[in-house]
Amino acid sequence: MVKYISTRGGGGAVSASEAILKGLAEDGGLFFPDYIPALPKTLKEFSEMTYQETAYEVMQAFLSDYTEEELKNCIKNAYDSKFDTEVIAPLAYADGVYYLELFHGATIAFKDMALSILPHLMTTAVNKNHIKNEIVILTATSGDTGKAALAGFAGVKGTKIIVFYPKNGVSPIQEKQMVTQKGDNTFVVGIRGNFDDAQNGVKKIFGDREFEKLMADNGYQFSSANSINIGRLVPQVVYYIYAYAQLLKEGKIADGEAINVVVPTGNFGNILAAYFAKNMGLPIAKLICASNENKVLFDFFRTGTYDRNRDFVLTSSPSMDILISSNLERLIYLIAGKDAEKNRELMMQLSTSGKYQISTEMQEKLQDFYGGYADEAQTASAIASLYESCGYVIDPHTAVASRVCRQYREETKDETKAVIASTASPYKFTRSVMKALGKDDGQADDFELADRLSEVSGVKIPEAVTGIRTVPVLHDTVCGKEEMADVVKKYLGI
Ligand SMILES: *Cc1c(COP(=O)(O)O)cnc(C)c1O
Repeated sequence: MVKYISTRGGGGAVSASEAILKGLAEDGGLFFPDYIPALPKTLKEFSEMTYQETAYEVMQAFLSDYTEEELKNCIKNAYDSKFDTEVIAPLAYADGVYYLELFHGATIAFKDMALSILPHLMTTAVNKNHIKNEIVILTATSGDTGKAALAGFAGVKGTKIIVFYPKNGVSPIQEKQMVTQKGDNTFVVGIRGNFDDAQNGVKKIFGDREFEKLMADNGYQFSSANSINIGRLVPQVVYYIYAYAQLLKEGKIADGEAINVVVPTGNFGNILAAYFAKNMGLPIAKLICASNENKVLFDFFRTGTYDRNRDFVLTSSPSMDILISSNLERLIYLIAGKDAEKNRELMMQLSTSGKYQISTEMQEKLQDFYGGYADEAQTASAIASLYESCGYVIDPHTAVASRVCRQYREETKDETKAVIASTASPYKFTRSVMKALGKDDGQADDFELADRLSEVSGVKIPEAVTGIRTVPVLHDTVCGKEEMADVVKKYLGI
């Protein structure tokens, strides 16, 4: 029976459904399973399972207080025809590596993998815990979480969702996806600031006890759809196991053969899920953490110092434009030997001075990780060269990983088979992609570029793009980063 405890040691252990409801622990820490369960089936058995069956086996191991019926219902409602392929997460082979395409859901980014199930996990948790309050989901987004969460929670009874995004920090298609969201329970706000400002604002509201009381008095309680919620993390473990099992099934790897995974990283949620999979027993050798020019994590893996005191760079991979990777706290807690006090100290240093240094002993426990980064020119050339060699078009986030993977191989001569997490469809970032391919003359808008991309790649424009092309903007609120709490109060009428 897995229970969840705070990485900062406060409060007692809670059940999975309680952790999903709360989002963040009361002391500001993140929930962490008191032990990481072993793979519940053999790799061979997994290789015979559908995505949904794999999801059930993996998730039941973590979400102990969900009944079989509850969990199977959540899975059935999440991984259905919202995805444009029955296999949910297909693998594509290009130029010597496997691309695990995690962008076949409703909003064409990997956030759909977890956010299509989170609303179901949450409403199930509401019922299980006899909660009478309405749940208010507060989310900061660097572009992709927002739309995926809006799509997941729109129209879900007993919930409201408020999304904050950096007004000038997302792609035009990302923004259009969000501001055209339908549903009376959805609210979208642009903030004058960057993603870290949005994330800090949300964390501040979560930590405000007076606000919490005001909410409760009015029949509301907060939860989070950000990757700090373990209801985001657990569904993400599934596709690493599924990918391995598919490779095994197709005879691309032998049973037990180790693979490397390469993950374009921002908030450290996706790669942490891969690390959980490894800790469950999935044969993963190296976890390659790929950053863009906001390379805090690259520096951290090199030096053991995490330092956010630097300029924030707006790149062509906006969902990775992050200087405070929230989920890294879970890794820090783990390599501190689950010493919550030590972890709390480091996180306090991060919030007061913007940096911390881990001990040599902790650093030694990071051997499984390799940090790399790609600058803007390298990212664009990764898109162009893959297209030229194989006709396969990837988005800028995936391109960062693709480039780092090549760098890693050249540097280490490690030729272990590699799976790259392909986190977004190129159709979400048509301008950057077409520019990289030398096919943007500066005249066309992002949607016209989608038409051209379709001609170039031979891949049909996804419904997620055609569907928002001409629909009206429904959300146009913009606020300062200091005004976030007021905006929430206004929306809730409190
Ligand atoms: C969110 C996102 C990432 C970063 O994932 P993390 O889990 O935050 O590290 C990478 N690529 C895309 C397209 C994303 O939407």
